[in-house]
Amino acid sequence: MSTSVLSPHDEMNVYASAEARFEVAAKKLGLEDGVYRFMRYPNKEITVYIPVTLDNGRLEVFIGYRVQHSLVRGPCKGGVRFAPNVTLDEIRALASEMTWKCAVVNIPFGGAKGGIICDPEKLSRGELERITRRYTAELSDWFGPERDVPAPDLGTNEQTMAWIMDTYSMHVRRTTTAVVTGKPIEMGGSQGRHAATGRGLLIVCDKAVTKFGRRRAETRVVVQGFGNVGSAAASLMHAAGYKIVGLADIHGGLYNEKGFDVPAVEDWVLRQHKPLPDFPGGGERMPAREILFQPCDIVLPAAVENQITSENAARLQTTILCEGANGPSTAYADEVLDAKGIFVIPDILANAGGVTVSYFEWVQDRQGFFWRESVVNERLKDVMEHSFDEVVRYSEAHGVNNRIAAYMLAIDRVAFVLKLRGIYA
Ligand code: NAD
Repeated sequence: MSTSVLSPHDEMNVYASAEARFEVAAKKLGLEDGVYRFMRYPNKEITVYIPVTLDNGRLEVFIGYRVQHSLVRGPCKGGVRFAPNVTLDEIRALASEMTWKCAVVNIPFGGAKGGIICDPEKLSRGELERITRRYTAELSDWFGPERDVPAPDLGTNEQTMAWIMDTYSMHVRRTTTAVVTGKPIEMGGSQGRHAATGRGLLIVCDKAVTKFGRRRAETRVVVQGFGNVGSAAASLMHAAGYKIVGLADIHGGLYNEKGFDVPAVEDWVLRQHKPLPDFPGGGERMPAREILFQPCDIVLPAAVENQITSENAARLQTTILCEGANGPSTAYADEVLDAKGIFVIPDILANAGGVTVSYFEWVQDRQGFFWRESVVNERLKDVMEHSFDEVVRYSEAHGVNNRIAAYMLAIDRVAFVLKLRGIYA
């Protein structure tokens, strides 16, 4: 793709990368000027100042944001992150990415994102609860099952969602489970939500492997990141018969061409809380990023952004790159990936399993009828397979790579509904 809209010093700015891809896709689509402007800007940006009495009696004020990027295809949907380095710019970019992600998998939501500038590691449970409740109270006019539905993200979890649900319910004076997703199962969460992103990755890898006429048993996979997404993807792919030859977490990577016993690694990392590279089952140790450049058939980054860049993309030794993390490759790396002929399953498609099962959670809450895990997984498979086929078909029909195809498909879907609805006033 052409990155002419991106200046070289912006390579590591994920938000500039996201914008560059939007620009390329919008131009290829020939999006008319007004519609382009409409989509480029969010619908609403809200800043809230959150007064909270800390445990030591001091009154502190935290800054929180909620950006609603698009309400065109349905209520807004997107996570809330608690982190010390949250910025409005970051939240704005992530909100727009959610719009495209929901549109790629064709679920009836627009994108949103929220954040609070705070360090959850340094706050007590009580302080986190008070921050969450006041943030929710300030935004209670904007949240709602038909308005904007938050979910967990960096630094937030099921407990945070339970507090948001309770606070919102107290304000509207009725229990409203559908106001958030990623809740505990006991209070309206969905079966299968925890592993949904990893399961979605397995499903799109299966599709790519079939497309290349390969079999799982002869497909070597490297997974970077062993948290919620990476461990679920590695575990499900191992169980499905793939050979997991490389793994990494923040402490470093391990490569073993014979393949890992993934349940034993899960026991080591997730239950015994030991660093992944110290796993005693064998393998060559290396820095976490190096794992991506080892010989394999699928590279699955599921840790942090900007791992694959214009500087190192040429070193990849894989045929498929399946992006579990958000923004693991820079826009400049796209050119190298294209030149090498690597089949990329872009983040807005590959990791959309999470938001898809969040949509299922919202549907179940609204109908008050809960599905078995097998039903959730079957419906997830249907959505992911269909979306994969649509992106690949679009890419072939328009002569663009999968990433630009996914953006074009998404932007086109939003633009179509925007034209049907028209502009009010
Ligand atoms: P997590 O915090 O559960 O796990 C992150 C993992 O990455 C950990 O194993 C950590 O040790 C490792 N890690 C951190 N820094 C690293 C580094 N520099 N090098 C190598 N490994 C490193 O996070 P998660 O929920 O698994 O999310 C991972 C990525 O997937 C993020 O980009 C997130 O935005 C994206 N994502 C998550 C979901 C979801 O449902 N959780 C959905 C869509 C996208």
